[in-house]
Amino acid sequence: MKTVKDYIRTIVDFPHEGIMFRDVTTLFADPRGFRMAIDQMLHPFAGQEIDKVVGLEARGFILGGAIAHQLSTGFVPIRKKGKLPGPVISEEYQLEYGEAVVELHDDAISAGEKILVVDDLLATGGTAAAGIRLIERLGGEIVGCSFIIDLPALGGRKKLEAMGMGVETLCE
Ligand code: 5GP
Repeated sequence: MKTVKDYIRTIVDFPHEGIMFRDVTTLFADPRGFRMAIDQMLHPFAGQEIDKVVGLEARGFILGGAIAHQLSTGFVPIRKKGKLPGPVISEEYQLEYGEAVVELHDDAISAGEKILVVDDLLATGGTAAAGIRLIERLGGEIVGCSFIIDLPALGGRKKLEAMGMGVETLCE
């Protein structure tokens, strides 16, 4: 039986020379693979109260939409700077070279709402940590963070756990 990992392909030298890009579009394109990924991401949170699923741009939108539908919750996007139309709050984070900014609509989450954070891949954890800061600034209570892939050498899990987060991943 194929596992989630078997549906993910690696593209060498994308987007830069020396990078091994883990491409999940092949997982998303396969009906069995996609359902398996969504079911496995949901499994650790079975029976837990969740009000909203927050997805990180861009592949977190695809996963988050499917997970929110399955849970009958709302879905909220965290986007890169300048993409959301309404009033936003912003958080900056470090990239390998330079900085990036992520944004969240300032009315997208109410204080006390239980939030599940999803994205496809956890590397340094910088993107997810900035997203977590945004959610917590609005008073959201994060139930957990769920990713398909963990790149453990880059330390993202440790970073998020040090923020008090529960981190669930399907493969390394
Ligand atoms: P981090 O902020 O944890 O260093 O990087 C994670 C973010 O970069 C995620 O939003 C993820 O989608 C993207 N990312 C970085 N490397 C890869 C990769 O090899 N494959 C995919 N699919 N996404 C990546």
